[in-house]
Amino acid sequence: MSCDAPPRIAYVDHAVDLGGAEHSLIELISRLDRTALTPTIIHTEGAKWLQSDRIADVAKVAVFLPHPLLEQKRDEVSAGLLHLIPNVWTALRLSLKLRGALRRTGAQLVHTNSLKTHFIGGLAARLRRLPLVWHVRDLLGEDEGYHWLRRAARLLRPHVIAISEAVAEQFAGLPIEVTVIPNGIPLDNFCPGPPSPRLRNELGLTADDRVLLMVSRLTPWKGHMTLLEALAGLAERWPRLKLVVVGEVAFWEAGYEQQLTQRAAELGLAEQVIWTGFRSDVPELLRLCDIFVLPSVREPFGRVIIEAMATGRPVVATKSGGVPEVVVDGQTGLLVPPEDAQSLASAIETLLGDSQRAQQMGAEGLARAHKLFSTDRVAQQVQELYQRIFSENR
Ligand code: UDP
Repeated sequence: MSCDAPPRIAYVDHAVDLGGAEHSLIELISRLDRTALTPTIIHTEGAKWLQSDRIADVAKVAVFLPHPLLEQKRDEVSAGLLHLIPNVWTALRLSLKLRGALRRTGAQLVHTNSLKTHFIGGLAARLRRLPLVWHVRDLLGEDEGYHWLRRAARLLRPHVIAISEAVAEQFAGLPIEVTVIPNGIPLDNFCPGPPSPRLRNELGLTADDRVLLMVSRLTPWKGHMTLLEALAGLAERWPRLKLVVVGEVAFWEAGYEQQLTQRAAELGLAEQVIWTGFRSDVPELLRLCDIFVLPSVREPFGRVIIEAMATGRPVVATKSGGVPEVVVDGQTGLLVPPEDAQSLASAIETLLGDSQRAQQMGAEGLARAHKLFSTDRVAQQVQELYQRIFSENR
């Protein structure tokens, strides 16, 4: 990157709400070396995640309007050919619109951050003959667009950044370059320590409650149902055990929230489970818990797991996707098979019954988070990749 003006990088993300991918993008952009490059964010009109003051000084261009294609769930992406034709047409139109924005903003490299923009942004970048980086954060099932992603990768030849080895595996055998850069978190925002009495009061917890915490979008693959079943199995032996569930549903999955509260009631857990909805004080909430739990079915990475580790909490999670790359089983937490309520309950019980081991795991997790998962490391590795791409294209 030796030209006079720093090269312009266009970051393309279609999400409206603030999800893990947008959290990670905000962290990345806010830590870039601005003497070496200039970011522009290309987004959907009205995107809520842009309100973060960490990116207040970054140029932003609204190219997408909220559209059913952009809001579709990932398991609908590959539904039927007839379904596909209007989608392809819309994707083409959006790509052309994006191409115009790339031209106007003088972008020299396109960095796509969300599944749908890998396709739309990828095509736009190729139409402008610009280098393309896909920051891949999804782990797709065979019925969730996995084959489309591979086909598009073969066609568009992106440089792929995968957030875990499990995510990188999806591109095995393709003639493209894949670099694994695990997510980082703003470690300074998280610190171990006792819970705030005010927060405990607010949520109706008492000092002698044992607390499990789960933080995630309310979406089925995160495994809330399995955790409710596990909790039901523990409730008799651990009457003071509470589960705090943090997160909200996306509007198109509104029914899932109701299913969860109904299941909790059926299992006799109405008093044990506290649903907080979306919260912006996750670092404080994490300090409430004895054990952090994430029972996802296919988790690409799980930023929240690192956040829990950086708070010095032991983690019980699943052997799924990228999780085993984050949690060292038996050292910083316990891993169990996905969708297995009994194993989940037994892992939780092991740690409830052995506070010393739980604390030791929390301490090991804290050290591991600081050693491996800082946002500065992510920004540095991403910039090194840009540099390599620019020097190859020179
Ligand atoms: N998060 C939050 N408030 C909530 C729920 C989640 O701030 O109510 C944050 C959470 O702390 C984490 C991110 O959203 O930083 C979720 O990222 P993760 O990789 O765990 O999940 P994703 O949503 O990307 O699958």
